[in-house]
Amino acid sequence: MARGTSVHSRGFKSTADVVVIGAGIIGASVAYQIARRSSLKVILVDKADGPAMGSTGASVAISRCRYTVPEVVRLAQSSQLAYRSWQDFTQLGATNSDYLELGALWVFDKTSKELADDLDRLTENGVAAEILYAADVAEHWPELNKCVQPIDFLRPHDHECRSGESFLYENTAGIADPAGANSDLIDSCRRHGVQVTFGQGVSELVMDGERVSGVLLEGGDRIHSGIVINAAGPWCNWINDFAGAQQKWTLTPTRIQLILREWSESDPRLPITFDGSTDSCYRLERSGQQILLVSPEISQFMETIDNPDDFRGTPDQQCVETTLAAFMHRVPGVKHSGRTTGLCGLYTINEEDNHPVVGPSEVEGLWLANGFSGHGFKLAPGIGAIIARLLTGESASFDPDVDENLFAIDRAPLATTGGVLA
Ligand SMILES: Cc1cc2nc3c(=O)[nH]c(=O)nc-3n(C[C@H](O)[C@H](O)[C@H](O)COP(=O)(O)OP(=O)(O)OC[C@H]3O[C@@H](n4cnc5c(N)ncnc54)[C@H](O)[C@@H]3O)c2cc1C
Repeated sequence: MARGTSVHSRGFKSTADVVVIGAGIIGASVAYQIARRSSLKVILVDKADGPAMGSTGASVAISRCRYTVPEVVRLAQSSQLAYRSWQDFTQLGATNSDYLELGALWVFDKTSKELADDLDRLTENGVAAEILYAADVAEHWPELNKCVQPIDFLRPHDHECRSGESFLYENTAGIADPAGANSDLIDSCRRHGVQVTFGQGVSELVMDGERVSGVLLEGGDRIHSGIVINAAGPWCNWINDFAGAQQKWTLTPTRIQLILREWSESDPRLPITFDGSTDSCYRLERSGQQILLVSPEISQFMETIDNPDDFRGTPDQQCVETTLAAFMHRVPGVKHSGRTTGLCGLYTINEEDNHPVVGPSEVEGLWLANGFSGHGFKLAPGIGAIIARLLTGESASFDPDVDENLFAIDRAPLATTGGVLA
């Protein structure tokens, strides 16, 4: 069947055990994880014409494991293993996505005790990491400024560099191809019998009294289903509102601006760099022909979006200039002569703790996988496993060693150090 066409004629009724709304990296992972461990009939629907048309397509796709909560470390670590073993995980002979190990350096203002705690939390949960001292960093990446002093963006000229003495390094951090990984998971879904339909938006939830009992598609088709999973990324709120579900957490679609700069062979091979002076991060792109800069995490560059179908797709000039200046602070010796481009995508920020809401909602029949706050790509394989385990009771390879209620709707806010760097 060609993408963008419905399997049914207009007004047709069908049934499933599970309908997943949204075939981004989260919905595709959820559907695949259910299908690979059960015989439940799963239908995955997306209003876009193909995979990775939402947040996933704009993702910087960094996989790293430094989190404040040990269980989130384990979730990120098991998901990283899935990305590293992508053909095994997807059970596909050939995949579009691959894993590129770049290592991640955290250039943060931390005491040696805080660094030691971070390191212990990583290594105790199976992540390869080490402390690098200033001399090690200078030896590996001589171009990198080791300043850890935060920059005040209102008074940048007052900034005086203060070098850190030691830094956390995650050896196996890296990147995958977000659009490729999303389309691989769609292939895996189909191979495991999931019915995947693109070009068909869900226009309403079907309610049976107080409970959700299916979805109505824009073309008029109705799917009855015991479970409907909201994996609609930044579009998640109207679905929850429709059912009167999930009023506890504030999930805000937020425009994030990315800057891409040409990068030549002679430019330094930097690790993924988390920049504590500016709350931003950088990584190589296109096999090192570009450098990708995530703009500083300050409110003026993070616009709240009311309608996820309507936001400016290119970065603002002021953001471009500030981000480049922040990057030049980090690698001051590198001369830039190439072109600058960029793009924007949407995070769905959980304002309370930057962690997602995953599992059954308080409305029977409606489940949630929402509010990933800039962390959804790296966690996607494990999030799918959490939902699949809750639904089926079955475990499978690459499953994370975490409580399935880790991100339950009725949890208390989890510890976090904030946003992109949570
Ligand atoms: C700029 C940027 C950088 C990022 N960098 C990283 C990173 O380095 N590491 C990391 O882990 N994460 C990162 N993220 C976050 C990560 O990309 C997201 O958390 C993740 O992609 C969310 O996936 P999703 O499937 O929930 O959402 P989406 O990819 O948005 O998918 C939702 C899908 O739902 C569909 N949909 C919506 N409404 C309906 C409807 N009514 N009916 C049917 N379908 C519908 C949409 O078409 C869409 O395909 C980044 C995100 C952005 C924007």
